[in-house]
Amino acid sequence: MHDLVIRSGKNVAQSGHRVRALYLAAIIAASALGILHLSQLIDLIAPTSWIALLAGLWVGALAADLVTGLVHWGCDTWGDEETPWIGSSLIRWFRAHHREPQAMLEHDWIEVNGAPALAASAAFLVLPCLGSQSAFGYAVAWSLIGAGALANQFHQWAHMDSPPLLIRKLQRSGLILSRVRHARHHALHTGGYCISTGWLNGLLDATGFWRVLERSIAFVTGAEPRADARNRS
Ligand SMILES: [Zn+2]
Ligand SMILES: [Zn+2]
Repeated sequence: MHDLVIRSGKNVAQSGHRVRALYLAAIIAASALGILHLSQLIDLIAPTSWIALLAGLWVGALAADLVTGLVHWGCDTWGDEETPWIGSSLIRWFRAHHREPQAMLEHDWIEVNGAPALAASAAFLVLPCLGSQSAFGYAVAWSLIGAGALANQFHQWAHMDSPPLLIRKLQRSGLILSRVRHARHHALHTGGYCISTGWLNGLLDATGFWRVLERSIAFVTGAEPRADARNRS
């Protein structure tokens, strides 16, 4: 998907024209499908179901934050760049991101959002098959897909010294991942894995959720968390 090149000591993923065209098409498709589903969601809302709608949006955003945390934690903790399927892509990306966090700022919005938009487009397309007619269920699914699709962008904004004013306001309000909230991850690499809204980072870190998960997996599989020395750099 990406050609990874070494430039001035930095890992910079550069996509070819065809991949960029695909990414752009996916971003347009995901945006259109998201708006279409939102209009259908609004049609489902009865005067009494606004609370269900807001609760659904909140639960979906929490679920998206958890999913990003699980994926990030998994890639930081287990396997290495030789791991089949995801080693040369996802795991490699997350570990390169530890070494040079600001390198992701070299990617434009098409590269940042293209791959998540592909997944979101597919998810939005299968959403009608789930057949949810409740405002709550529909809102959970819509919010989960939307917040998940935007996680890469939220993450990149959290690395910017000076993001756009509106984004700074959203970060300060706590609605999306803030620079401060994400900085803890880059200080320790053992917490703060959630990179969508970041809402769950405090709870999951304080309760030792990740360590319990690691001990459970280590007990069952015998694998050692963070065994790859490159992940500790
Ligand atoms: Zn990480
Ligand atoms: Zn980061």
